[in-house]
Amino acid sequence: MDYQTLLNIIEKDLETFEHEGKVADYIPELAFVPGDKFGMHLHCINQQDYSIGDSEEKFSIQSISKVFSLALAKMHKTKIWHRVDVEPSGNPFNSLTQLEMEAGIPRNPFINSGALVISDILLSCLKNPKEELLEFVRHLAQDDDIYYDEEVAISEKKHGYRNVALVNYMKALGNINNDVDDILDFYFYQCSIAMSCSQLAKAFMMFANSGKNIGTQERILKPKSIKRINAIMQTCGFYDEAGEFSFRVGLPGKSGVGGGIVAIHPHHYTVAVWSPKLNPNGNSEKGMRALEELTSLTGLSIF
Ligand code: GLU
Repeated sequence: MDYQTLLNIIEKDLETFEHEGKVADYIPELAFVPGDKFGMHLHCINQQDYSIGDSEEKFSIQSISKVFSLALAKMHKTKIWHRVDVEPSGNPFNSLTQLEMEAGIPRNPFINSGALVISDILLSCLKNPKEELLEFVRHLAQDDDIYYDEEVAISEKKHGYRNVALVNYMKALGNINNDVDDILDFYFYQCSIAMSCSQLAKAFMMFANSGKNIGTQERILKPKSIKRINAIMQTCGFYDEAGEFSFRVGLPGKSGVGGGIVAIHPHHYTVAVWSPKLNPNGNSEKGMRALEELTSLTGLSIF
């Protein structure tokens, strides 16, 4: 069966999907997104593309951006692992409690505290951090039509009290170097990046292609860095249900509270899905189901 037929089957199967989750509203601007949106895009290593639904519509990628910022920090050969650990947290993504026990060292770069430390690292090594991050993402996707959604960034800036607490707490514990307001500004903008499923699937192909851009074969990261980032996606990419995602889908990936999920099958394909209604752990409910069906029907998971 070809991939397009398969995606059409998934779309039909999930037409009557009963959502129990809800659209994130702790960032007020996200609450305006219609909950019934659904798109999916599969990008294969041979550069063939397959899609269904709202796959070209842009949405707020939120925490998915944490993979891009980690990759950019690695590209600049900065030292990271003495300031951020690589263990699953088993706690909500915005939790403060583990920081106290672990002397201000976040459990991994994909929870908020970890991503704030990566933001701090990028602020120390880039001249124009916001511009350079956006440029990096556009370059990975080979697409300039990717931007920061100012309204989402400003909305989060007004309400992101937990992130303010996290960065201040880590500053008090000695794991933050730059001004906390500059770090928060960069972090909120990185989370506000707007991309479609099709752009995300293409941008993530570097992680499925051993660190090379698939179109140009230009090397962006070393295979060793890709191995490590993919491992962190596998173990820490889905808040405190990384185990559940591995169990049901069986691919490394990353989700965001905008309802997007990107997953990769190294040397085979990347896939992005978007459905804004989230389960209690903050992952897209229908998105997870769609990916589970994809890997079950094809047998193409990493396990
Ligand atoms: N900007 C969001 C926050 O910091 C990202 C959350 C997410 O997607 O996990 O709360």
